[in-house]
Formats: sequence, C-alpha cells, structure tokens
Amino acid sequence: VRRSNIVQTRLSIGVVGAGTAGTAAAILLARAGHRVVVYERVAQPGPVGAGIVLQPSGQAALATLGLLAPVLERGAAIHRLRCVNHRGRSVLDLNYASLSPDAFGLGLHRGVLFSVLFAAANRQSDLDLRCGVEIERAVTDAEGRSHLVTADGRHDGPYDLVVVADGTGSKLRKLVAPRARVYPYAWGAMWFVGDDPNRIYRDELFQVVRGTHHMVGFLPTGLGPSGTTPQVSLYFSIRLDRVDAFRSSGFESFRRTVLGDDPRARTLVEQIQSPDALLSAAYAHVALNTWHGPGTVLLGDSGHAMSPQLGQGSNLALVDATVLAECLQVDQPLQQALAHYSRVRRAHLRYYQWATRSITPWFQSNRNVLGWLRDVLMPLGQRLPWFRRQMGLSMAGGMRGLLHSPLPIPLAKALPAPIPMASATKPLED
Ligand SMILES: Cc1cc2nc3c(=O)[nH]c(=O)nc-3n(C[C@H](O)[C@H](O)[C@H](O)COP(=O)(O)OP(=O)(O)OC[C@H]3O[C@@H](n4cnc5c(N)ncnc54)[C@H](O)[C@@H]3O)c2cc1C
Repeated sequence: VRRSNIVQTRLSIGVVGAGTAGTAAAILLARAGHRVVVYERVAQPGPVGAGIVLQPSGQAALATLGLLAPVLERGAAIHRLRCVNHRGRSVLDLNYASLSPDAFGLGLHRGVLFSVLFAAANRQSDLDLRCGVEIERAVTDAEGRSHLVTADGRHDGPYDLVVVADGTGSKLRKLVAPRARVYPYAWGAMWFVGDDPNRIYRDELFQVVRGTHHMVGFLPTGLGPSGTTPQVSLYFSIRLDRVDAFRSSGFESFRRTVLGDDPRARTLVEQIQSPDALLSAAYAHVALNTWHGPGTVLLGDSGHAMSPQLGQGSNLALVDATVLAECLQVDQPLQQALAHYSRVRRAHLRYYQWATRSITPWFQSNRNVLGWLRDVLMPLGQRLPWFRRQMGLSMAGGMRGLLHSPLPIPLAKALPAPIPMASATKPLED
C-alpha cells in the first residue's frame, strides 16, 4: 500500500453518535481535511457515567489526538489489578510494570474522557456538531452517496462516508451487518462514584469475588470532570432481573456485604444514602468479522460491544478512530481504504471479542462451578511466565491473538507520566 501524507480527496463524512468513537474519529478526520458533520441524539450531552480504565492502548490513541495531557491530569494511575476471593486468597494479580517499567492504567471518570473529546470537537474547524438530532437510517442515492434520515424524517447529506458510532444499541449497524445478533448479558453491574479524600484506594484496581454471583470492585477514578477531591468507583455484579428487588429490599445487606469484603470501604459506603444513588448498567455482546460496507464503517460499541470485564470498550473505540484516520490517509479509493481498515483491526478486535465472551461467565454467570474453577486455575496459570504475560497484555489492551504480535505496549515509555492529582486545580472546560 502506497502511503501519502496528502489527502487526495476531501471527503464529506457523516458521523452518527458523539460518544468516544464518534468524537475521536470526527476530530481526526476533520484535521485531515475532510468535511465532517456529527449527529448526536442527546440535545445537551454531559459528562455522565462512572469509572473506566484507560489502558496503555487507549492512552496512545489519545496521545495521537493530542489530548492525553488533560486526561492524565484528572485520572489516577493504576499499577496493579488485584482480585481476591471472599476468603482473601489471590485469584488474579497483574502488574503493568511487568510489561514495561513505565506502563500504567489510568482510572478515570468517563465524563473526563467525554469532556475532553467533546470540547476538542467543538473547537475543531470543519467539524459541525449537531446535538439533539437522532438518525434513524441511511439511504443511498443514484451516485452511491449516503443520506442520513433523521427521526423527524429529514434527509441530510449526501455523504461519501458514513461513520456509524451509535453505541451498543446501534440502529445503523445493519448497514454493514444486516444479520448481526446482539447478545444481552443476564448479569450487569451497579455503580457508585464517591469521594475518597484520603486516597484509601490508590494504585490498584481491587476486586473481591465469591463464586460467579458476587463481585465487588474499587477503582480509583481521579478527580472527575470538575472536582478537586479524589474519587473512587464502587461497582458490584448483579443479575439484571434482581435490580428492582435489590432497590426495594437488598440495600442494607449490600452495605454489610461490601464492608465484610473490604472494611476500608466504610467512608465510601456511608456516602451511599439510598439505593437510588446506585446506577445500574447492562451490557451486550456484538461479534462481527468485518466492520465496513459500501461507504460505511462501524466504530466502537456499534461494531464490537462487549462486557466490561476486561475494561477495553473505550480503549478499542479510541484505537478504531486512529486506525480509520490512518487508513483514509493512504492514497487509494475509499472502498479499499475501508477494507484495509477492517483488515488492520481484525486481529485486535476478534481477540477481545473472544476473550471477553470467554472470561465473563467465570466472573458473572449462573454457573457457580466456573467460579470455583477460576479460583483454582487462575493462580496456577499465573505461575507460568508465558500465561502471565498474555494476561498482562490482555489487560493493557495490546493483545491481538496468538498468531499476531501484540500492539507495542512499551509505547507508554513515550508518554508523559501521570501528573500528581493534587496539581490539577482547574476544572475541564465544557
Ligand atoms: C459498566 C460499564 C463499565 C465499563 N468500563 C469500561 C472500562 O473500564 N474501560 C473501557 O475502556 N470501557 C469500559 N466500558 C465500555 C465503554 O463505556 C464503551 O465501550 C464506550 O463508551 C463505547 O464508546 P462508543 O462511542 O462506541 O459508544 P457510546 O459511548 O455509547 O456512544 C454512542 C453515542 O451515540 C449516540 N447515539 C446513539 N444512537 C444514535 C442515533 N440513532 N442518532 C444519533 N446519535 C445516537 C448516543 O447518544 C451516544 O452519545 C464500560 C461500559 C460499562 C457499561
């Protein structure tokens, strides 16, 4: 493939969805000289959500966007993933430093990533951000260009390329994969983000599991989009058909269980005044083998929604955006560039689709025997240096299956170290 820094054609691009994938792609494509319109169904998108982990893979993608520094300032460095069972026995203990001395995960409020990307999209010339516009479908004209049809029946366009980034519940996925199946998980999670002024939770993502029915986790989350107090996200596993029962009668026993799992959580648990303070999250699995169609490409969860068990969704979405921008810089017809995109992304995406689908039932499912096996097998597997390395690479976002070399995780060396949180004094701009 012949590379060229010069963009041969100025494409007209419609992006559906202003989440992580949509905004990141829109910024890069507008910077490359294309004309970009982003449609977001929420009229006033805000920095909502709980904690996520920005892995070295996602950090590298944000660095490409030139947006890593403000995110580092508001995140909390995570050096270790530690999971124990209810008896306190180690199930999993992975260190980023074993991959590269400078590698780390970044615990982050999802709203920080949103605010940084959204503000950059707003500043970007040739990028028209239209909020409060829901896209229902796309139609193709006689010249093969796409028109996006809004919920109120308006036709917008024409576009040479439609970037579908409308998340797990995508309406436009069918443009590329008409028969794609969405597999909802029976288990989801409940979340609370609280203050942790004394930084009781620091440096590690800590989880306690009991069988496959019970999992509580604590993720240092940084300062959030506008605060000055360190935060921690508490999450726990729940079967989705039990959320209502939990809200009406399970709350007190939940508090006792969390304190039983980790007595350090007292100040955090005291901040949860009622079950309504906990947000519930459901997730689904979408597995595709190709992510492009005529003049269309799927990015982020629309093309590869997965359970957050490996904490990869936002990271994959960011990598998608950078790879798409690179593929469009290559001097070749659009359709070839899109096919090239699917080829380049295949190994990475298929690995994480397979890995999350395989590992999730070992932590969240009705099959308790898997929890027992996990407690026995994972510590044994971790004694093998090869297995340990594969698990570390999987956590860091770099695995591309056994037949392909991993993404270069030591890339973290090239990145600035996280800034001590105390120095982040000003909130992010809107
Ligand atoms: C509980 C939980 C924990 C998670 N933890 C992590 C983690 O630790 N690390 C990590 O990397 N990821 C994590 N994720 C996953 C991560 O949040 C997603 O993978 C990521 O947000 C995907 O980004 P996206 O842009 O593809 O989709 P989204 O962020 O869902 O954005 C889609 C956007 O499209 C808009 N939209 C939808 N339909 C339309 C339409 N028809 N017209 C116009 N606009 C539309 C939506 O309003 C939204 O703004 C977690 C997810 C959950 C649920």
